[in-house]
Amino acid sequence: MSETTEPTGQDFIRTAIRSYLETGTNRSVITRFPPEPNGYLHIGHAKSICLNFGIADEFSGRCHLRFDDTNPAKEELEYIESIKRDVSWLGFDWGEHLYYASDYFEQLYEWALYLIDEGLAYVDDLSAEEMREFRGTLTEPGRNSPHRDRSIDENRALFEQMRAGDFDDGAKVLRAKIDMASGNINLRDPVLYRILRAEHPRTGNAWCIYPTYDFAHGQSDAIEEITHSLCTLEFEDHRPLYDWFIEKLPVPSEPKQYEFSRLELTHTVLSKRKLIQLVQEGHVKGWDDPRMPTISGLRRRGVPPGAVRDFVSRLAIGKNKGTVEIEMLEFCIREYLNTHAERRMAVLNPLKVVIENYPEGQVEEFEAKNNPAVEDAGTRKVPFSRVIYVDRDDFMEDPPKKFFRLGPGREVRLRFAYAITCAEIVKDANGEVTELRCTYDPESKGGKTSDGRKVKGVIHWVSAEHGIPFEARLYDHLFREAEPGKSGEVLDDLNPNSLEVVMEGIAEQSLFNAAPGEVFQFERTGYFSVDPDTDGKRLVVNRTVGLRDTWGKMQKA
Ligand code: ATP
Ligand code: MG
Repeated sequence: MSETTEPTGQDFIRTAIRSYLETGTNRSVITRFPPEPNGYLHIGHAKSICLNFGIADEFSGRCHLRFDDTNPAKEELEYIESIKRDVSWLGFDWGEHLYYASDYFEQLYEWALYLIDEGLAYVDDLSAEEMREFRGTLTEPGRNSPHRDRSIDENRALFEQMRAGDFDDGAKVLRAKIDMASGNINLRDPVLYRILRAEHPRTGNAWCIYPTYDFAHGQSDAIEEITHSLCTLEFEDHRPLYDWFIEKLPVPSEPKQYEFSRLELTHTVLSKRKLIQLVQEGHVKGWDDPRMPTISGLRRRGVPPGAVRDFVSRLAIGKNKGTVEIEMLEFCIREYLNTHAERRMAVLNPLKVVIENYPEGQVEEFEAKNNPAVEDAGTRKVPFSRVIYVDRDDFMEDPPKKFFRLGPGREVRLRFAYAITCAEIVKDANGEVTELRCTYDPESKGGKTSDGRKVKGVIHWVSAEHGIPFEARLYDHLFREAEPGKSGEVLDDLNPNSLEVVMEGIAEQSLFNAAPGEVFQFERTGYFSVDPDTDGKRLVVNRTVGLRDTWGKMQKA
C-alpha cells in the first residue's frame, strides 16, 4: 500500500490532523469509509476510500468500513458483498473494523427516546406533503407543525407505538425539535425516524421504524470514536445538525466532520442513482460493464488497482468543485501499464501476407522483449513462418509518400523479424484486397539490411499457423458529451458507439494461456485485458486504454 499513498501532505484535512496530533497526547486518528449499500462503488468512492484509508495508514491510525444501512427499501446484500470486494481490491484492509449502522439500531432508538425526554423531539402526524409545505423555503421561514407541542409523555407513548407497529407506513414520524425558522433548512425540525415495513438485509423484520441517515450517521461515528469524519461537500450544511445531536446526546465521543469536493469526471456520471438506471434499463451489460465508472467496471476493463490509486493521489483534496478530465484517468492507466503490462503482438483486423521466397514449412523463433520499459521483464519466443497476418491498416494500395508501411513495392520491417517488400496484391471478385504476396530479405534479421539501406517503418504481425483467434471489445466514452445531461436528458447524451466488437483478431501464441484479468500491451495498438468471458474455446479481450497520450502532451504544452 504505502508506496502509492505517501503523505502528499499539504491538504487541509491532513494539516488539521497534524495539528490535532500535535496538540493532544496519546491520541490516534480513526477514520471510516461509510458507503450506503444501495449500489456498486464508483471511482468517486475510490477518492474517499483512498483518503480515509490512506490517512489511517499515514498517521498510524485505523479506518473502519461501515455500511450506512438505514434504508432497507433500497439496500441489498449483493451491494454489501460488492463493496467489500472493491475496497479490498483497491488494496485496503479494515481488519476487524467492519461495522453496520444497523448494529446501532437499538442504541439509536434509546437516544431518540432520550431526545423526547429532554423535550427535543416529537412525533408528528403531518403527511410528507404537508411537511414539505410547512418547511418553508430558502427565503421563507417554516411554520411549526400543530403537533409540535405534544407532551413528553404523549411523544414517548406514540414513539413506542411506532416501534411496536401500531401505525401504517408513513403515518407518523419522529422529528427533532430545533427551529422552524432557522436559516439552515436542515435544522427545521428534521425527521429522525420513519415507519417503513421493508425487510432489512441484516435485521430482517425486527424493525418497522428506521432512523434517517442524518440521525444515524453522526451518532454511528460517535459510537465508533471516529476522530475525523470525512465526507463530501453536500454534507457541509448538515454539519450544524450533526453537531447539534452530538451536543445534546450522551455520546461517547465527539467526531469532527470535514468536507471535501467530490470527484466528477467528464464523459461519465458518478451518481449511484444514474448508474443504477443505466444497469436496470440495459444501457450497459451490468455493473461491471467495462464502460462503467464503477470499480468493478474498471477492474473488468483491466485497470489495475495501482493505477486507480495513482490517479486518486493526483487529485486535489479541497473545497473547489471542478470536473476532472477522463483523459487524466486514462493517462494514469497508461503510465501504470507501461511498466506493468508485457508486450504482445496481436492483429485486430488481419490481412494475410505470403512471403514467397521464405521456405515452406520452415519456422523460426525470434526472441522478443516482454517489456522494453522494464529491465528484468525477460523475453519470449515468437514463431515466424511463410504466411503471416498484418493489420489491414498497415497497408494502403495507393499510399501517400509519408506512409512508411506496406504498399505496392514498399518495404517495411516486421518487428523482431525481417524486412519484407510488397510484390503483388491479390483481390477477390469485389475488388477487396484479400492477400499480399511479399518477398523478404534474408539478411535483414534484427533491423539490418543486406546493402545497408534504411527501412523506416516497423509493423507488428502474427504467424498464421501459430496465431490464436480472439474477440476484442473496443470501448469509447460512455457519454459523448463531456458533461452528460448539461443541456437535456442524461440518457440522450449516451455514446451510441461506446462499444465496438471485433471478432477476427489473431494474437501471438503466447496468449494461449492468458488468464482473465491479465493485461498486455498489444504493440502499436493499445492495452488489452483478458475478459472473464474467455473460455477454452475463445479468447476475449477488452481494450483497457489506447496508446495515444493526448492528456500528457496537453499538460506539457
Ligand atoms: P452517490 O451520489 O453516487 O449515490 P453517495 O455519496 O450517496 O454517492 P455513499 O455510499 O453515501 O454514496 O458514499 C460513501 C462515501 O463516499 C461518502 O462519504 C461520500 O461522501 C463519498 N463519495 C461518494 N461519491 C463521491 C465522489 N464522487 N467523490 C468523492 N467521494 C465520494
Ligand atoms: Mg450518500
